[in-house]
Amino acid sequence: MKTGLVLLSLAAFAAPCGDAPKPIEIIRAVITADAMRAAVAELSSDEMGGRFYRSPFAEKAAKWIEARFDALALAKGATKESYRQAIDKNVESGPNLIATLAGSGTGYIIVSAHYDHLRPKRTGEDRIYNGADDNASGVCGMLAVAQALKELIAKGEAPSCTILFVAFNGEEAGLLGSRAFVKSPTVPLGEIRGVFNMDMISRGPPREIFIDGGPIGAPVVEALKVANETIGMKLRLNEHPDWLDRSDQGPFLAKKVPAVLFSVEDHADYHKVSDEVAKIDPALAAETAQLVALAALNLSKAPFTARVEVVPAVPAVPAVDH
Ligand SMILES: [Zn+2]
Repeated sequence: MKTGLVLLSLAAFAAPCGDAPKPIEIIRAVITADAMRAAVAELSSDEMGGRFYRSPFAEKAAKWIEARFDALALAKGATKESYRQAIDKNVESGPNLIATLAGSGTGYIIVSAHYDHLRPKRTGEDRIYNGADDNASGVCGMLAVAQALKELIAKGEAPSCTILFVAFNGEEAGLLGSRAFVKSPTVPLGEIRGVFNMDMISRGPPREIFIDGGPIGAPVVEALKVANETIGMKLRLNEHPDWLDRSDQGPFLAKKVPAVLFSVEDHADYHKVSDEVAKIDPALAAETAQLVALAALNLSKAPFTARVEVVPAVPAVPAVDH
């Protein structure tokens, strides 16, 4: 009898308003402008030295990202034991970082951003390319989406397929990380429902973001249009076909994987040492990440049939003679 009474009174307190929070309410509570600014400030600090490819500074940034993957209790996605996917034969030098959030349904969704930037200038008072917009903003957006999806799972709103969070390296050196990924994918390319790639999401007019995926990216754009009925940003869709191969969505589109780029127009601090956290619009980055989180959740629940991959014939490896 006593237990029954306690349960009754708990139930009365548990749901004073009746309805559970909607996914967008959960997403907005997690992905805030303040959290975005704080994260970008860390990743674009002078201590990160510009995070240039194959440098101790990029390694420092990699460890920073891995610590956040760990804090979110994401699964390791390159191998069972590691987030690190080698870009070249030297595993220790400049890897991609891959974490996963397992879902039960078919297919995969990738949320990605490159974490490398530029080598310091030889001379001058300020020599470090902080890359706050390019692309600490995108990496922090990707991590914020991961955090929001974790919270959605905790509140009973789990995505229906596995989500991969990928921090690419070597983007500034020629899309090296994303090229390596599509060459040795950790999941079948034909089973990827969509790629949301964020590269520079924190400068320009408020609440406005460019999204480019061309004809191949159309399924992702459709999911974004639906999500944006709730978010209400100004989406500049497919205005920049010249951007399709300019960031890490390019190698996926080349393999016919639906992928889009989220970006702002080049600005006065683009690839300058003055691309610093004080100049970013953290609300724009936060809202873009909210849009990605909601669209990814919806896309994970849509019907999906794996595409048939057209694998080019590979010449047989000649037998070794001894
Ligand atoms: Zn970039």
